[in-house]
Amino acid sequence: MESALLVPLALLLGALLGGGAVAIIIAAVRRGHRAAQVATATVPDGVDQVIDALESAAVVLDSSNTVIKTSPGAHALGLVWHRTLVHARLVELVDRVRRYGDPVTEDLELTRGPLGDAQLRLSVRVAPLGTRYMLLIADDRTEAHRLEAVRRDFVANISHELKTPIGAVGLLAEALEHASDDPDQVRRFAERMKTESARLAAMTQEIIELSRLQAANALTDPSEVEVDAVIAAAIDKNRVAAEAAGIQIVSGGAKKARVMGDEGMLVTAVHNLVANAIQYSQKPSRVGIGVSMTDDIVEIAVTDQGVGIPDEELDRVFERFFRVDQARSRATGGTGLGLSIVKHVVQNHGGDVRVWSQSGYGSTFTIRLPRAVSSQRASTSKQKVRS
Ligand code: ADP
Repeated sequence: MESALLVPLALLLGALLGGGAVAIIIAAVRRGHRAAQVATATVPDGVDQVIDALESAAVVLDSSNTVIKTSPGAHALGLVWHRTLVHARLVELVDRVRRYGDPVTEDLELTRGPLGDAQLRLSVRVAPLGTRYMLLIADDRTEAHRLEAVRRDFVANISHELKTPIGAVGLLAEALEHASDDPDQVRRFAERMKTESARLAAMTQEIIELSRLQAANALTDPSEVEVDAVIAAAIDKNRVAAEAAGIQIVSGGAKKARVMGDEGMLVTAVHNLVANAIQYSQKPSRVGIGVSMTDDIVEIAVTDQGVGIPDEELDRVFERFFRVDQARSRATGGTGLGLSIVKHVVQNHGGDVRVWSQSGYGSTFTIRLPRAVSSQRASTSKQKVRS
């Protein structure tokens, strides 16, 4: 071949090879770009930020029901797993809205996550988002449903509990009428009427107290409370009952402990524990109140050597209207609300109450409360911060 032809031929071959390589590279880049778009399908402009800002659980799905965007709440409620909706009922709802086009709101009871057995009550709304996407928003109504059930239960229990003494007063009044000629009988029936009406008064008072405590989640206006004063007041309120029952009350332990809270409520809580300790002990016996504290916690323990509580009932004693021995509690004028009130007072103070007990040997109820940062310590730390 002539050398004059060789040069243009080489140039042509080079151009062809180079062009081919460039075309292959461009095609590969385009394919890659398309693949990336499929993998990271994006939600319409602005929706991203709206979903991030939502408090409710929100999920955006594409046309194949793949989850392409979630708010943090959606994961917390366990609605999404591996980029799909966990619950078949949610998928059905999304499909229905996609088919008919109208937004739908439904109340559903679902499990939390794919494995969880905790039940959630959700109000779920599904609506189309543009032409390609679906938006699902879920509001957690579990707590509201629980509170409603508790309220219904409470009202049913109250009606039942009040019917007994009210019925008894009615029957006693009738009996009084028939026994008007017998002064001894009249005295006996009148005495029992007094007992029943006292029980009614105590129950009404405790129901009001409990409702007040349940309405408020936390204390509105806490102040520094001296635990010594709380214990002195609780003992004072129980002195007559203790003397009548032949039971000695002793107190001891750490002095000058302080907690933040409401003194009246704390006196009620300790009073209820001491009253129970007296009520469920036989004479002669002792009831002890001991205080101990660490840097952060104040503990008030009320101990008795009374009848104790069977193991299988221990978990239930803080429930409203629960009594281990119905007959004994009724005979002593118990309402079954005392420990429930203790639990609520303590919870409202950011603490807890525990029980140890052994049938036939006695019980110890221990209230634990956060210790107040004393004014002394608070002012020192403020100075330190300033300096
Ligand atoms: P009650 O008004 O019946 O005493 P509480 O709510 O105070 O109601 O207590 C619930 C139940 O727990 C009581 O009926 C009793 O069976 C049991 N209980 C509470 N405190 C004691 C105690 N110190 N010793 C034994 N049993 C107790």
